[in-house]
Amino acid sequence: MNFDFDIEQVSFQEMLRDFSLKELLPQYTKWDRDNTFPRHLWKKLGELGVNGLRIPEEYGGSGADCVMTGIAAEEIGRGDFNLTYAVMLNALASEIISNHATEELKKTWLPQIASGEKVVGVAITEPAAGTDAGGILSTARRKGDHYILNGEKSGISAATIGDMFIVFAKTDLDAGSRGISAFIVPTDLPGVECKGYDDMGNKLIGRGSVYLNDVEVPAENLIGLENRGFAQVMNGFDLSRLLIGLQCAGAAFQSIDETIEHVKNRHSFGKPLATYQGVSFPIVTHYTNLELIKWQAYRGLWLRDQGRKHSKEASSVKWLGPKMSQEAIHECMLLNGHYAYTEEMPLEQRLRDVIGLEIGDGTAQANKFVIAKEIIGKEYRPY
Ligand SMILES: Cc1cc2nc3c(=O)[nH]c(=O)nc-3n(C[C@H](O)[C@H](O)[C@H](O)COP(=O)(O)OP(=O)(O)OC[C@H]3O[C@@H](n4cnc5c(N)ncnc54)[C@H](O)[C@@H]3O)c2cc1C
Repeated sequence: MNFDFDIEQVSFQEMLRDFSLKELLPQYTKWDRDNTFPRHLWKKLGELGVNGLRIPEEYGGSGADCVMTGIAAEEIGRGDFNLTYAVMLNALASEIISNHATEELKKTWLPQIASGEKVVGVAITEPAAGTDAGGILSTARRKGDHYILNGEKSGISAATIGDMFIVFAKTDLDAGSRGISAFIVPTDLPGVECKGYDDMGNKLIGRGSVYLNDVEVPAENLIGLENRGFAQVMNGFDLSRLLIGLQCAGAAFQSIDETIEHVKNRHSFGKPLATYQGVSFPIVTHYTNLELIKWQAYRGLWLRDQGRKHSKEASSVKWLGPKMSQEAIHECMLLNGHYAYTEEMPLEQRLRDVIGLEIGDGTAQANKFVIAKEIIGKEYRPY
């Protein structure tokens, strides 16, 4: 058993930590306050090879493994939680395309995702189907050499900034989750309309609804086989859930580092705050929790790299990672005193940002279903 990152991984980690703290962190709160998406930084991450980590080199990507992708999620999370979507969302979308789409679609989309030229999203959730993703109502009806898509996708990351969405819709209305197919839907197709929400966090990611009104999608934009879309995305979630755990932990570790500096310098009753166990023990507790999450996440990524099962590891990281990270950031806010309650410091924003991913990509309950199915048994599923 070897828990060390290799030389290549360490140098990638150091390069990204340096970039994240010097280039991203100083502007982290700016994009939130201005409510703007820094497309130039998205492209910059493309230049650094971050957007195409899970894209093979022949399509312009880095061809990196999942552990390397996890390192990027954690390190970018330290500087700008929201820009970790360039790691997580791109990894999810590009694995689906790389593993299942036609050669033509791969050649068209993967290089543009890797370079950061195009922003893509994954659209599953609907107003009436979130946790129960198999219950979506959007339809894709075959008509000649096209599919006609209708429906509303809700809660979709990158709705207002996306150039294309991988849209999941029913091609067989009577087959439940086995009747869902995935399509590449560029947002400039007639009948696609995107509207943003006023979210409490993750603001620059432009979450919102994607409306599909008789959208004519060329049949060649079908990803993989008809009715196999659900399995494609569920496999993808096993990766994105591990990355989410690390991006949240990255933001929380950074908050802890900043808080340790603060409590060493700030005095009360004649001594540094760090002297008091009422201050140091909460820091230790959260640090310990985050280390456990972090190593469970890297273990899950390593299992994925080995082609081994890792769904329960991914779900454990997904339900505990964002929760423990937001608890750690909350505690850091309190230990920094009243200034941390202002928008001058990044802590309040980190808290708002991280909470979003307690819901996105599946809530704690949805992930506990996955773990229960595996450790207790399929026959005891509630649905
Ligand atoms: C920041 C963010 C980003 C997102 N990005 C995307 C995206 O890019 N693409 C996309 O498709 N979706 C996205 N979503 C949507 C997200 O995946 C859904 O919100 C999530 O799956 C939950 O669905 P819901 O909101 O409909 O809640 P519901 O399914 O209505 O659930 C509401 C509550 O009930 C609980 N619950 C539901 N069923 C059960 C049950 N059987 N047993 C116990 N508890 C249950 C849930 O855990 C939850 O607490 C995003 C959401 C957020 C907040």
